[in-house]
Amino acid sequence: MKLYSDFSRTELEAERDLLSRQLEEWKAKGLKLNMARGKPCPEQLALSQTMMDVLSSKVDLSCEDGTDCRNYGVLGGIEECKRLLAAIIEVDPDKIIIFGNSSLNVMYECISRSMTHGVMGSTPWMKLDRVKWLCPVPGYDRHFAITEYFGIEMINIPMHADGPDMDMIERLVAEDEAIKGIWCVPKYSNPDGITYSDSVVHRFAKLQPKAKDFRIYWDNAYSVHHLRADKQDFLLEILNECERAGNPDLVYKFTSTSKISFPGSGIAALACSRANQADIMRQMSIQTIGYDKVNQLRHVRFFRDLYGVRAQMYRHADILRPKFELVQRVLHEQLDGTGAAVWTDPHGGYFISMTTTPGCAAAVIARCADCGVTLTQAGAAYPYHRDPDDSNIRIAPSFPSLEELDQATRILALSVRLETVLRLLGV
Ligand code: PLP
Repeated sequence: MKLYSDFSRTELEAERDLLSRQLEEWKAKGLKLNMARGKPCPEQLALSQTMMDVLSSKVDLSCEDGTDCRNYGVLGGIEECKRLLAAIIEVDPDKIIIFGNSSLNVMYECISRSMTHGVMGSTPWMKLDRVKWLCPVPGYDRHFAITEYFGIEMINIPMHADGPDMDMIERLVAEDEAIKGIWCVPKYSNPDGITYSDSVVHRFAKLQPKAKDFRIYWDNAYSVHHLRADKQDFLLEILNECERAGNPDLVYKFTSTSKISFPGSGIAALACSRANQADIMRQMSIQTIGYDKVNQLRHVRFFRDLYGVRAQMYRHADILRPKFELVQRVLHEQLDGTGAAVWTDPHGGYFISMTTTPGCAAAVIARCADCGVTLTQAGAAYPYHRDPDDSNIRIAPSFPSLEELDQATRILALSVRLETVLRLLGV
């Protein structure tokens, strides 16, 4: 295939007519396909179905220290569950607090608490004139929704192949006391699938923010979510690096079992320094008498340990890998050589991120919707939904069946091609 930019006007017009016809044919099929959200598919959920059998009315619901999990108590989570979640994100169990069913909820809580009560004795953020936040882009839309909800001013930070632009981050946090945090998805990032390099992690650990209440929100949502056994990314452990750099309180590290067991019915955890834990537990002890220990026990009895989790993640990968491979195959077949788009080929996580020629993404997403394919909203991966180049499209291959995915990816690729041709024709 020749680059579209090398096509003559007559060739472009012929291509436009051909692609329009093909898309009309797809539209006539009346499909209803969804590649919008990174949800596990029913076959993945079935992998954890027998977790429902490990507890029953006949089973002793005491945890290993004898605590009756049916009753109140044990605010920070049962020890065996701390060990399990700690192993998943490679920290000591004594650095972990176990929460409820959603890590996003824990992130929201951290910001909410900082707003009303400050961080370890600092001025509550709501009493400050301005609070700012660094947002590596493209990033996770729900992160940006939280900071936007609290009226926090968001600053875009470009992502590179090895993580966010550290020169910019170091400069901004050193000079501006209003900057209180940064969103990071350091492994198999949402949506780029990037894992931060050792050098990026070291530079994060050594940050010298002007604001003493600055925290790195290290959302390790995809720590064990590899797609392959032979190609896996490695991420340095940030809490360790912060300690070694003399910055032990700099980071809140989040995780959950959402895409290991059941999204929305899993277990979330936060790992941080002892001082941060004490600060957080003060609020937590007012907020709740304790989270769901029965679910904690259920997860521990089902997975047992990190080996159990890893075995389960290989089963997830066996379902997900063919889907990611199919999307890659169709995109290469349809787009190679056209210059219409580039896209990522991650080793893990839940997304493929596509970059179209500038000014095309919103139109492509609208055209796909017209043909029955729902994609994540245009601009969603940017603060305030503003993609400055209008070029990012997030593809979530996990939920549709292989057949649906094949159809949806073809419609996406044809739409990308048509919109690129239309731009070149000056439409
Ligand atoms: N963090 C990231 C980066 C995600 O992609 C997601 C879900 O897609 C979440 C957090 C949500 O996690 P939870 O279900 O624990 O709230």
